[in-house]
Amino acid sequence: ATPNDCPADVETLGRSTWTLLHSIAATYPTRPTPAEQSDLRTFMGVFSRLYPCWVCAEDFQDYMRRERVRVGSRDEFGMWLCEAHNAVNVKLGKDIFDCSKWEERWRTGWKDGRCG
Ligand code: FAD
Repeated sequence: ATPNDCPADVETLGRSTWTLLHSIAATYPTRPTPAEQSDLRTFMGVFSRLYPCWVCAEDFQDYMRRERVRVGSRDEFGMWLCEAHNAVNVKLGKDIFDCSKWEERWRTGWKDGRCG
């Protein structure tokens, strides 16, 4: 691990970015307006071009060409993002995350109350 006051390596950048993206999903409206849907679609497109790990960004752009981002509701985007994150997990040989649990992980906290 790199100290906190050093430039982010690929892992630190990745963890921070997933935190931001899943938190955006967690606060995205259950019934977004057309403008909110357009903002999220634009954000994800620009994000996939600016993500500062170039191999990661190229693969993620390929993924987004195959699996068009779904922005119709919190549930839709949360599941799309979970599946996108799982595709990266598979590529890196990490465990698959159970997407039925994405809201517990990123919005409500776990049912056992450990998140306070
Ligand atoms: P992370 O994968 O960072 O996950 C953080 C936490 O999210 C986990 O602890 C878990 O609680 C939760 N989580 C895990 N999976 C899911 C899921 N499917 N849905 C919801 N929550 C989940 N690294 C590379 O080396 N090569 C790449 O090509 C690459 N591409 C990336 C592309 C993108 C768009 C992003 C954001 C990151 C990419 N990374 C890449 C970084 C990589 O995904 C990890 O962030 C990094 O390896 C650190 O992994 P981690 O084990 O700490 O957990």
